[in-house]
Amino acid sequence: MKTLESLAVHASDTPDELGAVVPPLYTSTTFRQTAPGEPGPYEYARMANPTRAMLEKTVATLENGAHGFAFATGLAACSTVLDLLDKDAHLIAVDDLYGGTRRLLEKVRQRTTGLTVSYIDPADLAGIEAAIRPNTRMIWVETPTNPLMKMADLSAIAAIAKRHKLISVVDNTFATPCLQRPIEHGFDVVLHSATKYLNGHSDVVAGVVVTSADAPEVSERLAFLQNAVGSVLDPYSSFMTVRGIKTLAIRMERHSENALKIAHWLEAQPGIKAVHYPGLESHPQHALAKRQMRAFGGMISVELNGDNDYVRRVVARLRIFTLAESLGGVESLICQPSVMTHAAMSPEQQREVGITPQLLRLSVGIENADELIADLAHAFTE
Ligand SMILES: *Cc1c(COP(=O)(O)O)cnc(C)c1O
Repeated sequence: MKTLESLAVHASDTPDELGAVVPPLYTSTTFRQTAPGEPGPYEYARMANPTRAMLEKTVATLENGAHGFAFATGLAACSTVLDLLDKDAHLIAVDDLYGGTRRLLEKVRQRTTGLTVSYIDPADLAGIEAAIRPNTRMIWVETPTNPLMKMADLSAIAAIAKRHKLISVVDNTFATPCLQRPIEHGFDVVLHSATKYLNGHSDVVAGVVVTSADAPEVSERLAFLQNAVGSVLDPYSSFMTVRGIKTLAIRMERHSENALKIAHWLEAQPGIKAVHYPGLESHPQHALAKRQMRAFGGMISVELNGDNDYVRRVVARLRIFTLAESLGGVESLICQPSVMTHAAMSPEQQREVGITPQLLRLSVGIENADELIADLAHAFTE
């Protein structure tokens, strides 16, 4: 089995004595030892649990990586990856970053470990290289970025990281392995908020990290940190996430198809200033997106022409799109990043990266595309 469609369904297959097609959910926190100090494959559930291991193997397989590590949340995954760094390290991150990741870097790690961060536009490869300092240890990339849908050239950035011996990390939450596999471009670490597309049904909070076979040292240290720091995913959420992943490939296809139709439609509307979607020819990095991604995903951001009241009226008139944070579920959601997902950023930081109050972010679900467009058309009509 090689294709993502088949692997999404079968990567979690686990031999079972009773022949169960769906492996059981193991809730035991501890496992019998044959003699003192002689455990079997499992010992204590923070260290490893069979159901969590099934999820870890599944995501590692889909990402074409060596090892998977599941965490209680996406941010717990980010946090444990940052624990790879010693104190007073410097990190280079793309300038348009998930709000919670930015908050973790600036409001926690700066204080607790003296971490410093340079934020660079992912399109500015020379800028990334120029930002490297003697104490730089890691490059942190999102592509497409949240919420402005900027693209980072994965192969070029992985090459920079290798040249300077930096740990390269991609937050692949938006694209999922169905649309791009950063490890194949040379990245060391891929992480996910599995809360989003991997689980896909807005009913689990989870994070997963996958490491490349070319980075055995990073794998070893992460295995240690996952247990030593201890923010692991519980068995039930692991089970649910494996269940969700079985339909990942087919969901990503529909998310991408719907979003492309909606992005084209939005672009033709008079009340709209800009549509950010890598699948549009008007996207400044459309060529890179076509080269790097199998399809363009379900996330769109759109800048409206009008004041804050107009934006609020549009959002209030929607019937199918739900006003809510989060993304990646089967249902369509809409949010206003400036006061919702990215509210932790100061107004100056928001202005710097281009997050205006007129910006709305759409997580396009798998409903009927024409009905979604009709919903938006109704909302945009005064
Ligand atoms: C949601 C999200 C996170 C954080 O994940 P949680 O599961 O909410 O902790 C990190 N990165 C991206 C891109 C996200 O969308």
